Amino acid sequence: MAVIIDGKQISQQIKDELKLKVEKLKAEGKTGALAVIQVGDDPASSVYVRNKKNACAYIGIGSLAYELPEDTAEEELLALIGELNGKPEVKGILVQLPLPGHISEDKVIKAIRPEKDVDGFHPQSVGAMAIGAPGFLPCTPAGIIQLLKRSGIELEGKRCVVVGRSNIVGKPMALLMLRENATVTIAHSRTKDLKGLCKQADILIVAIGKPQFIGAEYVKEGAVVIDVGIHRDENNKLCGDVKFDEVKELASAITPVPGGVGPMTIAMLMHNCVQGIEGDREG
Ligand code: NDP
Repeated sequence: MAVIIDGKQISQQIKDELKLKVEKLKAEGKTGALAVIQVGDDPASSVYVRNKKNACAYIGIGSLAYELPEDTAEEELLALIGELNGKPEVKGILVQLPLPGHISEDKVIKAIRPEKDVDGFHPQSVGAMAIGAPGFLPCTPAGIIQLLKRSGIELEGKRCVVVGRSNIVGKPMALLMLRENATVTIAHSRTKDLKGLCKQADILIVAIGKPQFIGAEYVKEGAVVIDVGIHRDENNKLCGDVKFDEVKELASAITPVPGGVGPMTIAMLMHNCVQGIEGDREG
């Protein structure tokens, strides 16, 4: 029976560490705020935005909220980003995705100065991560590395399979595991014999975006299983990409949904904001 990796507890630990750091920085005269921009009033996005503001308040940094109407023109949003880029007290800029269809996410991401790109989505941040240069790391994959390390799971030399190759989860996840000296394979929808491949993994990271796709037949006995997916099942209960109940019987450690990877994303966003205030982006 697997150890259940407690993302809620580990994320709380990180936020408490950051709170102390923010106090110290304040004493040195270093402060700053996160600017969060939401376009439209998608209910899920509103929840995420509220959680981000609450997290800023908890660790003691400022937050500026910009709630723009759904029909905001792309130029208007780009102009606001330009203005925030120029404000020294704004250390991080986050535009809540997805954006309405008439706005190019690509243009918006590229408009944020890399020094304020706390989501780590700007091509410069992505490139820096790939070569191990200083830059903000994307929050969900960086959070998974923290979950694994703080749970005492050895990464070096381990065979890691990442299922999913999205720009926000799968690809950066594979790069960060490589940086930790794991031997990494990325699987996707065209991968042949996914089951056989997953069964070789010491660490299996699943970011497929399909509810309860990965069952026990994909998992080697004693493997560590990280479930990135978030879905609602037929009873409106949250679930992940992994069949938690059956996989926990043979894994050595597993993340639950909710309470696994999810809370880590926001903790790492706060981590990036504090790095921004320190003026010292992580490499
Ligand atoms: P995407 O839909 O962008 O990517 C899914 C990936 O899974 C693609 O690379 C796709 O392959 C691959 N895939 C799909 N079907 C299969 C299959 N049958 N076999 C193998 N690979 C397959 O999703 P995201 O990466 O954005 O997100 C993944 C999940 O994580 C979602 O449930 C999302 O809600 C959740 N999420 C959770 C976060 C958190 O904070 N916990 C943060 C971000 C995401 P291909 O490229 O070939 O199409």
